[in-house]
Amino acid sequence: MPCRDCDSSDSVQAFINIDKALGMEWYSSFCFGKCYEQKGDPFTGKDAPKVIVKSPEQTKEEVDLITTCKPFTISKPYRGMPPKAFKGWGCRTLLSEYDGKTPYAIAFPYSDYGKLSGWKARPFKKKAFWAIGQTRDVDMFGLIRAMRLGGDTLWIVEGEFDAIALNYCLTLAGPLDNYPVVSLTMGGGSIAKNLGHIELRVRHRFKYKVLVLDNDNVGIKAEETAKNLWPEVIAVGKPGKSKDANDAVKKNLAREMGKLALNFKKI
Ligand SMILES: [Zn+2]
Repeated sequence: MPCRDCDSSDSVQAFINIDKALGMEWYSSFCFGKCYEQKGDPFTGKDAPKVIVKSPEQTKEEVDLITTCKPFTISKPYRGMPPKAFKGWGCRTLLSEYDGKTPYAIAFPYSDYGKLSGWKARPFKKKAFWAIGQTRDVDMFGLIRAMRLGGDTLWIVEGEFDAIALNYCLTLAGPLDNYPVVSLTMGGGSIAKNLGHIELRVRHRFKYKVLVLDNDNVGIKAEETAKNLWPEVIAVGKPGKSKDANDAVKKNLAREMGKLALNFKKI
C-alpha cells in the first residue's frame, strides 16, 4: 500500500491480527520504506479487504507457473559475479507485470525433502522479497544441489546471493567447479529452525559444516546458536571489511574469500 507520510507508492504492508481468546480481529501496518515505523490500522473508517486464503491447489499452480519462467541468465556481471556463477542454482527471471518483457525480479527455488515447495522473488531495483508457495519452514536454499554434489564439507551462509557468491569464491580458490553451499531460509534468525529441519539428513552426511555468516549482530548470534546446537560447526572469517560473501566479491576479494572458506581449520 502507498505511504502518505513518505510518499512511497508501495512501502506499507498491512497485517491482520487475530486474538482467538478475545474473539477479536484487527489490522495494523508498517512502513518498510523511509519511515520504517508502525502505521496503525490502515483501514480506519474504511472497509478492510476480504482475506483470501489460497487453496493448496492454487498455491501449486502459482509455484508451477514460476517454474515455466525463463532461467535466470545475464550477459554482464551482476552483483560482482560473472554469468556462469548463476548456473546450476535453478533461478528464474520474472518479467514486469505491466509490459510482460522488462526483467523485474530474480526467483530462487526452495524445496522441502527434495520437492519444490516455493520461490523467493527479489526485485532487481529494490531491497525487498516476496514468496510464492512455501519458503519458510522448508529446507535451506540449495540443499538438493548440495546433496547431489556431496563431499565432506557443507558451507552455510545467510542469504541466497551469498550462497551463489560463496560457491563462486570457492571455485576461484579450489579445483572444483561446484561446491555444496546452502543458505538459511530467512536470514540469521532462522538458523535454529533450519538446522533442526535438516539435521537427520545432513548432520552426519557432511563431516564438516562451515559457517560463513554476516559480520553483524544477527550473524554473531546465529553462530552462537549453531555452535550450541551442532558443536562441531566451524566458523570462518571474511577478507578485508567484507560484510558477507557477496560483499567480498563486490570488493574484489573473491579469491581471498574462497581461500578462507576452503582452508578452515579441521578439528
Ligand atoms: Zn512511509
